[in-house]
Amino acid sequence: MSSESLGGVVITGAAQGIGLAVAQNLAKIGYGVIIADINEKVGKESAKQIVAAGGQALFCNVDVSNRASVAEAIQNCEQAFEFLHAIVNNAGFNRPQLFLETTEDNWNQIMKVNGLGVLIGIQEAAKSMIASGHKGKIISTASMAGRTGFGDFAPYCASKAAVISLTQAAARALAEHGINVNAFGPGVVETDLWTQLDEDLMEMGVSSKPGEAMENFSAGIPMGHISVPQDIVGTVQFLISPESDYMTGQCLMIDGGMTMQ
Ligand code: NAD
Repeated sequence: MSSESLGGVVITGAAQGIGLAVAQNLAKIGYGVIIADINEKVGKESAKQIVAAGGQALFCNVDVSNRASVAEAIQNCEQAFEFLHAIVNNAGFNRPQLFLETTEDNWNQIMKVNGLGVLIGIQEAAKSMIASGHKGKIISTASMAGRTGFGDFAPYCASKAAVISLTQAAARALAEHGINVNAFGPGVVETDLWTQLDEDLMEMGVSSKPGEAMENFSAGIPMGHISVPQDIVGTVQFLISPESDYMTGQCLMIDGGMTMQ
């Protein structure tokens, strides 16, 4: 690659959904992207599609709660694209349970991926940036659920509040290295996460027919409709660019106005 390389970006949970849309957009701009996901079959196919569209992409089998696999993806990024410019800590999932029936297992599984996974991603990316001397960008996917509580998915809300707190803590810790640490908080985005959530809420008896849970959520969106992954990519493009160099420790909400603080 040329000395004017933009470098590489590791995007976790990029096999599909929000992460894939972000990866496709960053590849289009000229970044080399690492599709870092536990879903090898879909992730490899997504990387292939980005390459077919003229971008540079590699798949890495990553479980964000496994430090060694995250570190390996970052090493692969450095080897393929000269240096790590950014990480987008986007992998996450939800598994709803009624508040009074929420189990320790549910808490541990969700916090391990959505919380610890983000801490590990921030740490491993920062180590790479400090070693290379590159003033990079660390971006994590929070949620409106990190700004307000929902009774049927308390651990998920806590995990997304943790993403916001980790963003603030890391922003203070890494400012001296010129590393920006920010997050963004989607509202309701049409992805497999919501398909699964819809099914789970029906099984729990919270909703009675397919699509009802999403409809109930949508009713309260000031912008009047739910979003699609494409609605997220512009904010990430801004956070990854020099235009946001004086911004750190922030969580930008992209939720059609559902939460206003
Ligand atoms: P999605 O289910 O379509 O994609 C999630 C991806 O993460 C999948 O490819 C999955 O394989 C991967 N993944 C899950 N666990 C992983 C792990 N341990 N290690 C590596 N990869 C893992 O969902 P999405 O809606 O695109 O979600 C992306 C992020 O956006 C998540 O953090 C989610 O919490 C957040 N979010 C989604 C919404 C929404 O309405 N869809 C709203 C707010 C926040």
